[in-house]
Amino acid sequence: MQRRNTKNKKLILDVFEGKHTLTVQEICQLLPEIEMSTVYRNVERFVVDGVLREVCTHPNITAYEYAKDIHDHFVCDNCHAIDEIHIRRGSIKKTLPNGAIMQDGGVVVHGMCKECIKD
Ligand SMILES: [Zn+2]
Ligand SMILES: [Zn+2]
Repeated sequence: MQRRNTKNKKLILDVFEGKHTLTVQEICQLLPEIEMSTVYRNVERFVVDGVLREVCTHPNITAYEYAKDIHDHFVCDNCHAIDEIHIRRGSIKKTLPNGAIMQDGGVVVHGMCKECIKD
């Protein structure tokens, strides 16, 4: 049993290679041999362990990405493409409520990507 758990863990992490963000549903599509409840359990574990982190780029959708490289996100509201961006903290910090601190990698900018503007 332990051996199978380790194997599942490795398979789940491996699907993130070369990908940016993935939802549990997307992981399950890529790994049909693993049950969704197992995927959920392992992903939650990875978040607790700081291997993956949650990114909430669309309402009601939780996606995950590697936690090692913290960055912000740009989301195209037309095709839902997600890009990595790096927001300058300085100007935003000045606009925060008094005494509030900003979470790293917590900024999501919505808009329209180049491809969608072309159409
Ligand atoms: Zn787009
Ligand atoms: Zn990202």
